[in-house]
Amino acid sequence: MTDDRQTDHPFQTGLHVGQINLPSWERFEQEFRAIFDRNFFASHGPLESKLEAALAEYLNVRHVVCTVNATVALMLTARALDISGDVIVPSFTFAATAQAISWAGLNPVFCDVDEKTHNLSASLVERCLTERTAGILGVHLWGRACDVDGLEELARSRKIELFFDSAHALGCSHRGKRIGSFGRAEIFSFHATKVLNGTEGGCISTNDHALAARLRTMRTFHGNQTFAKVPLRLNGRISESQAAMALMSLEDLTKNIDANRTRYFRYRERLTDITSLEFIDHAANEASNYQYVVVRVLDSSPLSRGRILSALQAKNIFARDYFSPPVHRMKPYRDKPQPVLGVTESLSSSLIQLPTGHAISIDDVDAVCDVLHSIMKG
Ligand SMILES: *Cc1c(COP(=O)(O)O)cnc(C)c1O
Repeated sequence: MTDDRQTDHPFQTGLHVGQINLPSWERFEQEFRAIFDRNFFASHGPLESKLEAALAEYLNVRHVVCTVNATVALMLTARALDISGDVIVPSFTFAATAQAISWAGLNPVFCDVDEKTHNLSASLVERCLTERTAGILGVHLWGRACDVDGLEELARSRKIELFFDSAHALGCSHRGKRIGSFGRAEIFSFHATKVLNGTEGGCISTNDHALAARLRTMRTFHGNQTFAKVPLRLNGRISESQAAMALMSLEDLTKNIDANRTRYFRYRERLTDITSLEFIDHAANEASNYQYVVVRVLDSSPLSRGRILSALQAKNIFARDYFSPPVHRMKPYRDKPQPVLGVTESLSSSLIQLPTGHAISIDDVDAVCDVLHSIMKG
């Protein structure tokens, strides 16, 4: 139902893009009381193991190694692969994808993405390959799988590593198989704004026993957690409170994804007649978590992307212009010569993320759509 009061006046509290899926207070209290009763708060406690086992089952993968966040998981994985030289990454992603590569002492090489999928494809990556290329780090942007098959074939034939930043893709599938066991390893984030909320947290999923042993050793300084010979260690453990939050969020995942899907299709239905806003599709035969609601502002739009964002902001609706600027035009990378990435530039200047997640009701979605209708009339 449309509420004119909401359309004419700003929302009292802002509407944001992030998820913040929370457990019920009763579940929260129960789990945290149990942590206090056990008097076990950090460093490889029972909830870390429980979460790793639950995620391994959910992702249908042999090993899950949990970490303090996904950025550290990416750094650890890049380092644990024991490679040197260049890693091909998209620039149209969150800065952590590339910066983790730099932290691991490797050199990110930015590759353009496919106009339709917003992801790396084997043919685009092939053009970036040189004798220095040691790996490919793909991103399943908006939860839509990369060209997994093409990239796996390319990595195999060139004998280079392939792993994935799957921070957008928990609960999503590719060819009916849950994302989590592609490439050498996949990395997920449990940041509060992601569909699975551990407040902070992340994990690496892999079917590679030796890699898992290195990662388990590298993420901690605890001597009793030594499973492999590694050159360096760091403190990248997940705490018991993070693991508790993530476990409760995993229990609620189906429900939260359903709520995301409902909001996504409500937006689509309400905005179909604004032809200058094009929705990012999810294949009907694949699972998606609908973590983001993304529209592209077409050239036919009466308003520029910037004008749309500021008109929404005037109503306290904080839609976002992810990812702008793209990573290759951010520090430190912009200080070095970078390739021209035409599709990346174009996506970076034309996409909008609309508010979604736990705090956004269907009435809120309707009110955002009403604002868009009124400003897009021209
Ligand atoms: C959120 C995100 C990350 C980083 O996750 P953290 O858990 O916050 O470190 C990395 N890559 C992508 C694509 C993300 O969206």
